[in-house]
Amino acid sequence: MIDLSKYTKELSKLFLSSENILLICHINPDGDAIGSQLALYHYLKAKGKNVGLMSPNYLQEFLKWMNGADLINIFIKDRKKCRKLIVEADLIVMLDFNQSNRLGEAEDLVIVSNARKVVIDHHLGPRNFADLIISEPSKCSTSEIVHELVCEMNGAQFISRPYAEALYVGIITDTGNFEHGSYSSRTFRIVAALLDSGIEKGKILNLIYNNFSSDRIRLLGYALNKRMVVIPEYKTAYIFLSKDDLKEYNHVKGDTEGFVNMPLSIKGINFSALFIEKDGFIKLSFRSKGQFPSNEFAAQYFSGGGHLNASGGEYTDTLDNTIDFFLKVLKENAWRFEDKM
Ligand code: 5GP
Ligand code: MN
Repeated sequence: MIDLSKYTKELSKLFLSSENILLICHINPDGDAIGSQLALYHYLKAKGKNVGLMSPNYLQEFLKWMNGADLINIFIKDRKKCRKLIVEADLIVMLDFNQSNRLGEAEDLVIVSNARKVVIDHHLGPRNFADLIISEPSKCSTSEIVHELVCEMNGAQFISRPYAEALYVGIITDTGNFEHGSYSSRTFRIVAALLDSGIEKGKILNLIYNNFSSDRIRLLGYALNKRMVVIPEYKTAYIFLSKDDLKEYNHVKGDTEGFVNMPLSIKGINFSALFIEKDGFIKLSFRSKGQFPSNEFAAQYFSGGGHLNASGGEYTDTLDNTIDFFLKVLKENAWRFEDKM
C-alpha cells in the first residue's frame, strides 16, 4: 500500500486552518471527478467545514442524481457566484486533473487567487500549479485516493452513505465497472467495505449505466453503423460525429460516454478514437490496449493527456481536417503500433 502519510500531515493542517474550502473538479467532469469531489465534500461537511463546490462546466445527465450534485456551481452558468467562491476561498482543492487548463474558463481566476491550493489526482505527469500535489498514478481513481487520505487522517467516523455512494461511483466509472484501469486488490477491499456499509449496488449501477434515453441508444447504433472507420493495418478504428448527427438524435451531455470503448472489442483493434464536433473545435477521446501510450499521443498532437490507455484532447479545426490530421499522425506513429501492442 502507498504511504499517504507523506501528504496527510500537510493536508490535515490545511483543512484545520481553512475556513472556506472550495472543491473544483475538471472540465467535462466524469464519474470520478464528481465522485471524488462529492466524497470529499461529504467528509468535510461532516467535520463541520464550510465547503463550496464548483465545476468549470455542466455535469452529464447520468451524474445529476448524486447526493450533492445540485450544490455544484457551474462556472460558465453562474460566473458571478463562482468568482465569489474562488475569491473568498482560503483553500482550493482540485480533483481528478493535473493540468491547470482543465479548469476551463475558470483557470485564470483560480491561478491568481490567494487561496492555498491542493491537487488530488491519478493522471501521469502532474504540472506544478498548487502548493500540495497529491499525485498517485498507480491508483485506479481519484476517488480511491480521497478515501485512502480520509482513512489515513482517521476519518472513518465521518464516513456517511452519500460519501460511500460517491466513492463507489468514482471507482466503477473510472474502471469501466472493473474492466480496465489500474485497480488493485486494495480497490476490491475498499469496495467490499462500501458494500458492507449498505450502499445499494444495483440501484447505483442502474442509475449510471441503465439510465439513458432511447435516442442515445439509437445514436450509438448510428455511430457504429455509419460513422465508424476501421483501419486494420494500423490496428485502429475511429468514430466521428458531427453537430448535425448529434442534433438528429437529440443529444444531451453524456450521451457519447463509452462510445470510444466499443471499437476495442473488434478483434485486432488496439487503438480507438472518437471525434465529436463542438462549436469551433473537435473534442477527441482515445482508448488503447497494451502499451501504446494514448496519453502521449493525445499530448503530442491534440493538446491533451490522460492515462496510458484512456486519454483525450482537442483540435481547433473542422471535423474533416481533424480526421485528416489524425490519419497523418497515425501513419507517422505506425511503428509504435507494431512494437508496443
Ligand atoms: P474521456 O475520453 O473519457 O473524456 O477521457 C479519458 C481520460 O482522458 C480522462 O482521464 C480525462 O481526464 C483525460 N482527458 C480527456 N480529455 C482531455 C483533455 O482535453 N486534456 C487532458 N489533459 N486530459 C483529457
Ligand atoms: Mn479519474
